[in-house]
Amino acid sequence: MDTCSPVGEMEFVKGFVGLCDVGWRMGWHERNGGNLSYRLTEEEAEGVRLGSDAEGSPWEPLGVAAPSLAGSLLLVTGSGRYLKNASAAPERELGIVELSPEGDAWRLVWGFAEGGRPTSELPSHVLNLSVRSEATGGACRVLYHAHPSHLVAMTALVPLTDRDVTLRLWRAMTECVIACPRGLGVVPWAVPGSAELAEASSELFRTYDAVVWAQHGLFASGDGFDEALGLVHAVEKAAEIYCLARSMNAGSEDFPNTIDDDGLRAIAHRYDLPLNEALLD
Ligand SMILES: [Zn+2]
Repeated sequence: MDTCSPVGEMEFVKGFVGLCDVGWRMGWHERNGGNLSYRLTEEEAEGVRLGSDAEGSPWEPLGVAAPSLAGSLLLVTGSGRYLKNASAAPERELGIVELSPEGDAWRLVWGFAEGGRPTSELPSHVLNLSVRSEATGGACRVLYHAHPSHLVAMTALVPLTDRDVTLRLWRAMTECVIACPRGLGVVPWAVPGSAELAEASSELFRTYDAVVWAQHGLFASGDGFDEALGLVHAVEKAAEIYCLARSMNAGSEDFPNTIDDDGLRAIAHRYDLPLNEALLD
């Protein structure tokens, strides 16, 4: 990495705004809907700190504590900002926050050039990045929250359990179990930005790579931007196919053709996937 580049031109910022652009074009970010965070590598953080004068500025409390992320730098979307604008002016639309030595407070080290704050879901992002990072031996760096229509529509109809939602998606489209062999966690409807939603999600992220928020959207994790985006895309496509099939079947879930448990196990065997057997019949 070229540490002399302006921060806005660094590769990880390009990857970040690239995801924002694709998510916007997919129709997953009406108004200021959705948010994204990325945990910088040590090398990237070093490059950012070189050009920053944040040392000595005050810490703002997070409301949660993630000691395992103490001192980390996170690139995040802004509160009230539209993801569609991120690529045009990353230094205005995005910010990099540093977490305190206790992991319970933040301060801005780059971005929000014309004023602004990190997404109101920052506590959720910090907590969940910490859980996913621990669950993946440090590999997970991205958390992405989107509002994909078919998945949200599905939560109006199906029982809101991990098993009920996951099995319907796995059975709808072959690629889905390949994208998320551990399945999906499901949180019944809760107020956005609430501690209740953040804590329920972080509990589920110990097991799952992604968590569905009923009547709201999806929170997906990934080692990189492609993995997080691809996970949302695969889940949403499976949900779309489920909704289409159900509509064509007069609303009935009694489908003549589907992928049964043996089929799901055969896919997992063929591609050496960590299939979550607890979710099968
Ligand atoms: Zn949302």
